[in-house]
Amino acid sequence: MALRTDALFREDSYLREAEAEVLAVSERGGVILDRTIFYATSGGQPGDTGTMVFADGTVVPIAATVTGETKDEIIHVPAEGAAVPLVGSRVKLAIDWPRRFNLMRMHTACHLVSVICPFPITGASVAEDDSRIDLDIPDTSYTKELVSERLMDLVRGDHPVFTRWITDEELAANPGLVKSKNVRPPSGTGRIRLVCIGENAVVDSQPCGGTHVARTGEIGEIHIGKIEKKGRENRRYRLRFGPVVAG
Ligand SMILES: [Zn+2]
Repeated sequence: MALRTDALFREDSYLREAEAEVLAVSERGGVILDRTIFYATSGGQPGDTGTMVFADGTVVPIAATVTGETKDEIIHVPAEGAAVPLVGSRVKLAIDWPRRFNLMRMHTACHLVSVICPFPITGASVAEDDSRIDLDIPDTSYTKELVSERLMDLVRGDHPVFTRWITDEELAANPGLVKSKNVRPPSGTGRIRLVCIGENAVVDSQPCGGTHVARTGEIGEIHIGKIEKKGRENRRYRLRFGPVVAG
């Protein structure tokens, strides 16, 4: 039977620490809790790493976080050879915050690229220092200089980023909200999480389950480092932190 973990990061992506109860430990040592601040690998964003402290003070590094049988079951994967907690015991959690914050900045920047380049997204992957977003883009005017400049305009605009839940019916009535060509947001659960940017979502809104910064200004200096040709019309835009490097 699939277990259910309350995903605290979905309501507050800035939680760095929390306490939880151990619901189960899998045969392979994966720890399932009643609640967590650890984001599980999904939608192109890697899962969190960090530490879990047992009631007796044992500190265990968490090397990865993944989903189990369902998206609601979040599995904390301890480092190789680490101890596992007792079912029913309480543990203290802390995520690797500098890493997660960089992932939040990168992930939010990916949303901005999809606003600047309004074309179907065929793939995306977020990493701490280099993210990519693949688009079917027939227009060659979206150069790295142009996209970088517009990105920084949106960063400097310091627009609010917030979530809103809508129903399956509302999403069906607004098909333009979905920008992924191949990935459909999960429907059938009755509600879908929309990530909105700008006052009243004037900049953007799209279904997403990831973690984002609260204001675009927190992304900081960022640019398109490279554009790679992946197909006749498919281009891979690579995001890097820092100012544009000439040449
Ligand atoms: Zn997102």
